[in-house]
Amino acid sequence: MRIDVVSIFPEYLAALELSLIGKARQDGLLDLTVHNLREFTADRHRTVDDTPYGGGAGMVMKPEPWAQALESVRQDARPVLIVPSPAGAVFTQAMAHELAREEHLVFACGRYEGIDERVLEWAEGSFDVRPLSLGDYVLNGGEVAVLAIVEAVARLLPGVVGNPESLVEESHSDGLLEYPVYTKPSSWRGLDIPEVLLSGNHARIARFRRDEQLRRTASRRPDLLAKLDAGKLTPADLAVLAAEGYTVVHGRMAPAPPSSDS
Ligand code: SAM
Repeated sequence: MRIDVVSIFPEYLAALELSLIGKARQDGLLDLTVHNLREFTADRHRTVDDTPYGGGAGMVMKPEPWAQALESVRQDARPVLIVPSPAGAVFTQAMAHELAREEHLVFACGRYEGIDERVLEWAEGSFDVRPLSLGDYVLNGGEVAVLAIVEAVARLLPGVVGNPESLVEESHSDGLLEYPVYTKPSSWRGLDIPEVLLSGNHARIARFRRDEQLRRTASRRPDLLAKLDAGKLTPADLAVLAAEGYTVVHGRMAPAPPSSDS
C-alpha cells in the first residue's frame, strides 16, 4: 500500500516511524511519505491560511497550495483522499478493513478552521474523497486522526501484525467488544484470574469469553448491541443478554420492558 500525508507539521507524523508501522515501512509492506504543505506555496512567507469570507473567528486554509500538493501525489487512477474532519463520518473498524483493500491513500491534514471547501469539490474530479472523523470532539489538526487511521488500517495489511489470528478476535471485529484478557501470575495482589481459564477445557473457555463479550458490550456499548442481528445469536447468547436486561424486539436486541411484578 502507498500512503501520502500532507500536513503543515510533518514532524507530527514521526510516530509512524515507530513500532509495527515503522517496521512495515522498513520491510517494504507500506510506502508512506509525509509532505509539507508549505512546499507547495508560492510566496516568500509560505502562507497556507487566510481570513474567512463572511467574517468570523479563525483562519481558513487556502485552496491553491492544497491543489498543488494533491496534484503532486496523485499518480494512479483515483486514490482515496481522506480528509480528517469533526464534520466527517465517524471512522470505524469496518472502514479500516475497507481502506486496507485500497492501493493508495492520501491524507489531507487540516488546521485552523479547516480547508477551503472548494478543495474537496475540486478533488472529487480525481480522488475518491472521504471526510472522516475520529469522534464527536474537536482536535486542533488532522494529524492525530491520521496517526489513528493509518495505524488501524496498516495493521490489517498482510504481514504487518505477526500473528494474523490476533486480528480476528479483537473488539469490533464481530460487532462486539473483546473479552477481558489476563496473563501471569494467576494470582496478583489478592485478585485471581477466572478459574475457567486454567481448566484447559477449550469449549468452556470459548463460552466464557463469548459471555464476557456479550456482557461487556451490553454494559459499555449498548449502541453496538442494538446493531446486532439477533437472528445470528445462539440461545446461550440470548440467555446471557436476558440476564443483562435485553430482549429481542423486531430482530434486534433492545432493553427488556420492566416486568409487571417489579
Ligand atoms: N472548524 C472546524 C469544525 O468545527 O468542523 C474544526 C476545525 S479543527 C480546529 C482543525 C482540523 O482538525 C480539522 O480541519 C481537522 O483536520 C482536524 N480535526 C478536528 N477534530 C477532528 C476529529 N474529531 N476528527 C478528525 N479530524 C479532526
